[in-house]
Amino acid sequence: MSEELRKLKQELHKKDFEIKQFKGLVTKDPLTGLFNRRGFEEEVSRLIKDIIFAKENPETRKHFYIDSISILFFDIDNFKRLNDTYGHKTGDQVLRQVSQIIRQKVRNIDFAGRWGGEELVVALVGSHEGDAYNKAEEIRKAVKSRVQVGLSSGQDSITVSIGVAELENKINLDGLVKNADKAMYEAKHERGKNNTVKFSEIK
Ligand code: GH3
Ligand code: MG
Ligand code: MG
Repeated sequence: MSEELRKLKQELHKKDFEIKQFKGLVTKDPLTGLFNRRGFEEEVSRLIKDIIFAKENPETRKHFYIDSISILFFDIDNFKRLNDTYGHKTGDQVLRQVSQIIRQKVRNIDFAGRWGGEELVVALVGSHEGDAYNKAEEIRKAVKSRVQVGLSSGQDSITVSIGVAELENKINLDGLVKNADKAMYEAKHERGKNNTVKFSEIK
């Protein structure tokens, strides 16, 4: 390989790296390391379009096997009180710990993001509502038992409320997240928090 070609390749490699770094900056949330809302929306809406297209055109998409997707919508319970009692830094740490548990519990093919503030979202690829509910419950229990704040003499457990919704006909990502958010609201306000509710239970 000529010296010139080698240099050109090196330069391309560097540019590629820079683009990846830049993409990370605009699509990831720095505090939790999860996708930010923009990154999450970009990835998951693309997948939803593919699922819908494959359903509508089965003859052209014979090798596309993903036929569903489910959203988990998390809201940390009493987060304002946590900040007020233990400080903003502890609040940040809790957000990171909850995000870490979510990351450990989902597969590499799934997507986890920070929707905003203390609200996190997960897209479970190929999952129907029942499986998604079980996964949500697994995460809810892990958060309650593993995320604690305070002194060893008096620890407070952190809990989350979760809404679960599965992709339905004629909805986009926005509608799907709204359904999961509604179910979360039910878990929070009708079931007394630290609960998981399926959208199908309330619609
Ligand atoms: P609920 O149980 O009903 O969800 O009550 P809540 O206190 O969790 O909810 P509320 O919406 O009243 O408060 C959310 C708080 O989250 C307020 C805001 O200051 C805090 N918050 C949002 N983003 C961050 C962050 O990045 N770090 C920290 N430490 N706090 C944050
Ligand atoms: Mg909230
Ligand atoms: Mg909250």
